[in-house]
Amino acid sequence: MHHHRTVCKLKCAHCDNNVCVRGMKAMLLADTRIELYSTDVPPFSVQLVGEDYMTQNCQCKIRDVACLTCGNVLGYHITQPCQQCMEACNNGHLWMFHTEAVTSEERLDPEGKKILLWAHLPRAEKDTENDLKKSVERRWKRQSMLLEDAVSVYFR
Ligand SMILES: [Zn+2]
Ligand SMILES: [Zn+2]
Repeated sequence: MHHHRTVCKLKCAHCDNNVCVRGMKAMLLADTRIELYSTDVPPFSVQLVGEDYMTQNCQCKIRDVACLTCGNVLGYHITQPCQQCMEACNNGHLWMFHTEAVTSEERLDPEGKKILLWAHLPRAEKDTENDLKKSVERRWKRQSMLLEDAVSVYFR
């Protein structure tokens, strides 16, 4: 199981765009020498590009995933998992990122004190940090608060 693993936040290595707040360092099932990051939810600001294809590792159908901001390929999405991968403990992680295409940072618990483990991570739909709309709103709120502060200082 992956419960003892840390949760990481992933950014595009090329443009620093936020991609994912539920990342996990993983190994390719078919070739454990290959390390990558995986996640269980659709990443932010990425787009599927090109056609489905297969690798020699297994029968999974995959499609490349590119950063919406800079266009670089960051990894791939398993559009159709194969039998072998379905049977193995695949844990529903169908989005993969190449380690050289993203930067990773350990995510902290809501209090910001301890490194968050998968065991303590809420399900995707309960994970407020994963809610991009909410986090954008939060960021806007913070920015406009800063702006108000700046304005009130200016007019004091
Ligand atoms: Zn497979
Ligand atoms: Zn990018």
